[in-house]
Amino acid sequence: MSHLLSKSKYIRGLQCDRALWLDVFNPRLARYTAEQMRRFDRGRDFEYAFKATFPDGIDLSAELKRNVDAYPVRTAELLDGIHTPSPLRGTPPNLGGELKGVAAVDEHYLGSSPKLGEGDRREAEVEECETITLFEAGFLYDDVLVLADVVQQREDGTLDIYEVKSGTTLSETYRRDAALQHYVISHCRKINTFSIVYANPGGGFIKEELSTALQEQHGEIEKNIAAMKDILRHGEPATPTGQHCLEPYACPYQHYCAQGVRQMSLFG
Ligand code: SF4
Repeated sequence: MSHLLSKSKYIRGLQCDRALWLDVFNPRLARYTAEQMRRFDRGRDFEYAFKATFPDGIDLSAELKRNVDAYPVRTAELLDGIHTPSPLRGTPPNLGGELKGVAAVDEHYLGSSPKLGEGDRREAEVEECETITLFEAGFLYDDVLVLADVVQQREDGTLDIYEVKSGTTLSETYRRDAALQHYVISHCRKINTFSIVYANPGGGFIKEELSTALQEQHGEIEKNIAAMKDILRHGEPATPTGQHCLEPYACPYQHYCAQGVRQMSLFG
């Protein structure tokens, strides 16, 4: 694997050293409650609703699935216009499963192959790339891989980025998550705007552009990443349980750490 940290691991690491270590080396121990799983599903539905407002978006997850190392490579190809046009352009998010993907591939090639020679096709591809919208575009820097919800490349090559969150307020965790993405992506490409999109309680979306505030956090993020890499160079930290196990998220390793506490009280 080409990366060590991801957005979720970084956020976990901000909450607890030990949870970060377990996420990297023993993630099978994680246990999520039914309510947590429902919350993930609600978040995913909200994200898909926002993505559906970009009908020409290319969903990289439909094409690359769990092959995470391929995301930054494919993203660079698409943004640099050196790609074969994605057969999944315009595939509705959440519908990019096996059968939908295959159907879209067939439609694309059946529609264009007989009419275009190689030279014509190449020109059409490059033209098509002047502006492009990607879902789950991948960027890798400093051993951190981030997948951005929606990335729009403008005609001047700069990016408008949207990070989608289903909450109705802009929480500190959302800002930290966005700041990590801004840090990684800005070392790969020039960012024009970076917005967090969240739920309007009355319906619809609220977009808040935060580039300047996120830029100011780069120094802190660099230090956090270095500290997390150091944690991962050593054995499992013996972090004691406490209030941090519940905030900002209920840690999925609580049952595991509670066993350790029980053993210590039995033998202590
Ligand atoms: S239960 Fe608490 S101590 Fe254990 S990994 Fe989670 S946050 Fe850390």
